[in-house]
Amino acid sequence: MKTIIEKLDENQIDEDILAKAGEILKQGGLVAFPTETVYGLGANALDEEAAKKIYAAKGRPSDNPLIVHIADVEALYPIVYDVSDKAKKIIEKFWPGPLTLIFEKSERVPHGTTGGLQTVAVRMPVNAIARELIREGGGYISAPSANTSGRPSPTSAEHVAEDLDGKVEMIIDGGNVDIGVESTILDMTVEPPMILRPGAITREMLEEIIGEVDVDRALIAEDDSQAPKAPGMKYRHYAPKAQLIMVEGETDEVVKAIKQIAYEQTCLGYQVGIIATSETADLYTTGLIKSIGTRNNENSIAKNLYKVLREFDEEEVSYIYSETFAKDGIGDAIMNRLEKAAGHHVIRATDITRLQKYRRVLFVSNSDNCRGPMAAEILRHEDLTQEYKIGSRGLVVLFPEPANQKAEAIMRSQQMTLEAHEATGLAEEDLDEDTLILTFEESQKWKIISDYGNVKNVYTMKEYIDDEREVPSAHGQPLVVYGENFQLLKELIHKLAEKLNEEAKSL
Ligand code: AMP
Ligand code: MG
Repeated sequence: MKTIIEKLDENQIDEDILAKAGEILKQGGLVAFPTETVYGLGANALDEEAAKKIYAAKGRPSDNPLIVHIADVEALYPIVYDVSDKAKKIIEKFWPGPLTLIFEKSERVPHGTTGGLQTVAVRMPVNAIARELIREGGGYISAPSANTSGRPSPTSAEHVAEDLDGKVEMIIDGGNVDIGVESTILDMTVEPPMILRPGAITREMLEEIIGEVDVDRALIAEDDSQAPKAPGMKYRHYAPKAQLIMVEGETDEVVKAIKQIAYEQTCLGYQVGIIATSETADLYTTGLIKSIGTRNNENSIAKNLYKVLREFDEEEVSYIYSETFAKDGIGDAIMNRLEKAAGHHVIRATDITRLQKYRRVLFVSNSDNCRGPMAAEILRHEDLTQEYKIGSRGLVVLFPEPANQKAEAIMRSQQMTLEAHEATGLAEEDLDEDTLILTFEESQKWKIISDYGNVKNVYTMKEYIDDEREVPSAHGQPLVVYGENFQLLKELIHKLAEKLNEEAKSL
């Protein structure tokens, strides 16, 4: 089948295209179209044969019922048995919008649309293209997400085409969707009404209007052991090609943990993907990093969620580590979709971060222009099983001078360089829990302790790696002394690397 793809502007809808699309629907064909949640795959909901085509095009299990989309509230009454006062209040407040309601169905709705159920799910979308198309198509359009079953829901016409080109009569391209996660589903056939799928309309928003609202316990369960009440929620909707793992905790701990795992996995030869936010993306150093939106506006995260998951399916990564979000507002829906995609694989950030003692190593000398920067650069060339920020500081640094020229000459002869180095004085903020401070001389250690009081993690090199040899200052000495210092430093730093790697194993 040749799929027609037509662009439509929500603010200036081309009536001819719309009429053509409506005709396809009336004839029992399939038209994919934008809604504010995700793209829908539309078919005449009152025509059993049309419903069958949806299942075939999506490869969707036929016991998974379809949501009937309407354009006007009056259209609800002929297809349902009863509309309670509570339902009327909710409709008044939230329709049109990202909220699906479940009612007892009337005779007019075929079982092919409801997956054999006596109930029907109904939604009135806000998107103008969707609404006009529904009217043109006869008023009742079933429209599941316009993706192949098992892939992330489509949030752009390109996503729809990836999955359904050649399988449907028409795709209407109305640009990117507004919300990005599927509608909230609220079952009005039980008392109190029950949320079967979280979405942009939250429990709190509903309770404000009608009082108590339940949540399907299967949504709260930490695994897949409970059968959800919405038939479609029982499927492992979408499993990314890579293993998706969620890391929960305070954001800064989460970033530390993901950095740590990404570094270790990369050392082991795996390609790692990271789902970050615009606040955190720059903090990561290893892996393929994709920002999913800003934490200041979780709507942006909902909007990009499926796009990012689709993008990762194109990448050769073995693992994807994702930050997690507070389960309030739309965060509940975001976490629900992520948890499903991850198969409930969640780890606690602190379980990871406690496995790394130091995250930074600083070598402290007097003027930070020779031994310190040399040691730091040599350590950067060692194979370390955990990631460290490596640097150097001085106790008496008056201006940011470059490294000593003789030191640089020696480093160059060893295919290393201190070119980018600028001497930096030690400051109080360098003495944090995560930092291992190594001095070259006993007196330097005591100076730090007396200047800053009760500081942790400050050792002389000698003491830390348990080696008698000391690296003297080569200041004012001939080049050959710098060369000897380099050789000694190299041996000591190698021992240091071994010690750090050993410690990493034993934690
Ligand atoms: P989708 O159309 O892809 O957004 O999926 C529709 C969701 O609504 C699926 O999870 C269905 O199982 C659910 N659903 C549709 N009709 C009913 C119904 N009558 N009772 C319970 N869940 C329903
Ligand atoms: Mg779907």
